[in-house]
Amino acid sequence: MSSTLLGISDDYDVIVIGGGPAGATTAALLAQRGRRVLVFDRERFPRYHVGESLIPGFMIPMEELGLTERMETRGFERKYGGTLVWGNNEIPWNFSFSTGGRIPYAYHTRRADLDTMILDRARELGATVVEEATVKDTIEENGRVVGVKYAVRGLDGTHETRASLVIDASGQARVIGRKYSDVNWHDQLQNVAVWTYFDNCHRLPGDEWSNILIEGIQEGWFWGIPLDKGVFSVGYVTRSATAKATDQSLEELFHSEMAQTSKLKELLKDAHQTAGFRTARDWSYTNERFYGNGWALVGDAAAFVDPLFSTGVALATMAGSALSKIVDTIIEHPEIEEKALDRYATAYQDFFSDIRVFVEHFYDRSKTKGFYFNLAQEITDPEKKNDAQVDFVKLVSGLTGNHQLFNLTFDDLIADATAPATAGN
Ligand SMILES: Cc1cc2nc3c(=O)[nH]c(=O)nc-3n(C[C@H](O)[C@H](O)[C@H](O)COP(=O)(O)OP(=O)(O)OC[C@H]3O[C@@H](n4cnc5c(N)ncnc54)[C@H](O)[C@@H]3O)c2cc1C
Repeated sequence: MSSTLLGISDDYDVIVIGGGPAGATTAALLAQRGRRVLVFDRERFPRYHVGESLIPGFMIPMEELGLTERMETRGFERKYGGTLVWGNNEIPWNFSFSTGGRIPYAYHTRRADLDTMILDRARELGATVVEEATVKDTIEENGRVVGVKYAVRGLDGTHETRASLVIDASGQARVIGRKYSDVNWHDQLQNVAVWTYFDNCHRLPGDEWSNILIEGIQEGWFWGIPLDKGVFSVGYVTRSATAKATDQSLEELFHSEMAQTSKLKELLKDAHQTAGFRTARDWSYTNERFYGNGWALVGDAAAFVDPLFSTGVALATMAGSALSKIVDTIIEHPEIEEKALDRYATAYQDFFSDIRVFVEHFYDRSKTKGFYFNLAQEITDPEKKNDAQVDFVKLVSGLTGNHQLFNLTFDDLIADATAPATAGN
């Protein structure tokens, strides 16, 4: 079989490396605008992925993709907020997304289902999606990335294809970022995670029924995510250094630390573990560069922040949506590419940085919930336009209003680039 038989041609407007939420959203929205898009993913979907609890910001790109009804029909579990055992007064406290604005819920979902749904949508909208195809390297000409070299499972050798722009959405693989950018590791967020699944779990009471449970203990914290039919995803996160210093394996640590929880232990008292353990290094980072000559980064390929507030998929899809609009403009006006991508990078880094700084401070559990609310206000709403609790919920919903990423305009750049040269210049 040749790559032509797979429907791959020699030339596209955009190549997207990775068909996860960031790549599939970017590709789908570019295809919706009539752009010729090619997506490669090294896996065959549906494929397993960690990250099953979502936040309201995620709903905005899903509305743009026309997927929210499909999620309802498929029975995705609605998530209305969170329950925390956290801070110096550790009794559980709750937040409700409805406090933060117009989107009162998101979902908990198995990522195999969600990611396949978004990637299928990209196909429906006209993107060419090739699974089990691994991007091995970029093609460069005169210092510009003009395409990629890829290998397809079952086909001999390495193949090439080209595009006006290559987008790296390869998650923590960071295919392009690894080659062209240094990475800043965030020292305070160097954690490991170990997680598994339980059946026959109890639910939180009343309105908290579908909340995510976040329970802090001495050396780390647990997530409890209600998925469906009594199944919970349960994970433990602790500092890498702490895990290294014990003589217990991560699995042993999970069980011994679970004994220290109060709320989670209660929910799992009649539960059975139904799967093996999975582990991940959970170190937060930001690439120094989010774009270069012929390329741009999005999602975890650009930056990753600790999963304490389940922000990853929302950030990936929201940035994918923003990037699709920017790239569409750049294809029309290639002369503004560098300046437009620079605006994207600055706005994305600001948005990401607010969440990261907040999470770093939130890890200090010696405070009260009022302190955490004020902290969210200090970071996102220094003029105190909202109540601090509203700022907190907006932040953990991914809906902070003061970010430019979603409202970038380029008319000034286009006008500058197309203005006739003044006489004498
Ligand atoms: C322990 C843990 C818990 C988390 N919990 C949550 C949570 O509850 N909620 C949440 O929103 N987020 C959570 N996250 C974060 C979330 O998983 C990510 O932020 C999210 O998956 C990012 O999406 P993405 O599309 O950028 O990357 P990914 O989903 O990782 O997709 C990248 C894709 O690129 C493909 N790829 C990689 N290399 C290549 C290559 N060379 N060629 C072709 N394809 C390639 C991969 O196969 C993959 O499909 C968690 C993360 C961790 C570590």
